Amino acid sequence: MGLKTVNTFDLTGKVAIVTGSNTGLGAAMAVALAAAGCDIVGVSRADTGTTPARVEATGRRFADVRADLASIAPVDDIVRAALEAFGRIDILVNNAGIIRREHALDFTEADWDAVIDVNLKSLFFLSQAAARQFVKQQSGGKIINVASMLSFQGGIRVASYTAAKSGVLGLTRLLANEWAAQRINVNAIAPGYMATANTAALRNDAQRNEEIVDRIPAGRWGSPDDLAGPVVFLASSASDYVHGHTLAVDGGWLAR
Ligand code: NAP
Repeated sequence: MGLKTVNTFDLTGKVAIVTGSNTGLGAAMAVALAAAGCDIVGVSRADTGTTPARVEATGRRFADVRADLASIAPVDDIVRAALEAFGRIDILVNNAGIIRREHALDFTEADWDAVIDVNLKSLFFLSQAAARQFVKQQSGGKIINVASMLSFQGGIRVASYTAAKSGVLGLTRLLANEWAAQRINVNAIAPGYMATANTAALRNDAQRNEEIVDRIPAGRWGSPDDLAGPVVFLASSASDYVHGHTLAVDGGWLAR
């Protein structure tokens, strides 16, 4: 019998929903999943950016779904649109997220609710909707949540973001506990300091930029493409026995 090489990272024929796929980390993860073989259901709020063209350049299909995840109203429509486009769902990447900055003494209810609603509530209910579909398909499935360094650390002036991202780490564990036996893997990626529109202000502030880079063992900001390998790993059968884990992709920041 000859030696057989099995590519456990291959995602050919799989369907992935990626929220916030128009830009930044979501765009990079959508393109990485497509390059590994997935058709992509890209959820964006306003415009799709260049993601459809980048996905299609890999030879895969892109379904454009518009939804505002500030409420859970569109959750069922997202699942329905994915099924209409591609007939099944295998992977959900909960990437959409926002941040609000203010001292805790002055933090408003509006800034609390806005961040919790997008980063935590919609993430939970979209996961629930996807998992119901995985159970119906009897296929198992992969859910990948986007956490943060503030799932592990306190941060400052970002109360609702820290609460939400710490909640993402906990929910990732809870959902893994409930769904692992149904071959649904729930894991998270915790990006470190990544160069996206989200962090442009920090990078443009020479002093803050230097402080941050000095503390990153890898000596540089992360690029969105640094999430390509980790997201494909967590979406593929290579991670079938990985449940409830939050994987830091941070250039060593947490190890410091
Ligand atoms: P970004 O460039 O600001 O992208 C955020 C994405 O979320 C955009 O696609 C945005 O859509 C979408 N989004 C926000 N509110 C939404 C809503 N109500 N409904 C639907 N989509 C919504 O930031 P990013 O850096 O790529 O961040 C992506 C994820 O990584 C977030 O969860 C963020 O917290 C997390 N993260 C980022 C870093 C970092 O260093 N960059 C570090 C740790 C964690 P629009 O373009 O329409 O606003």
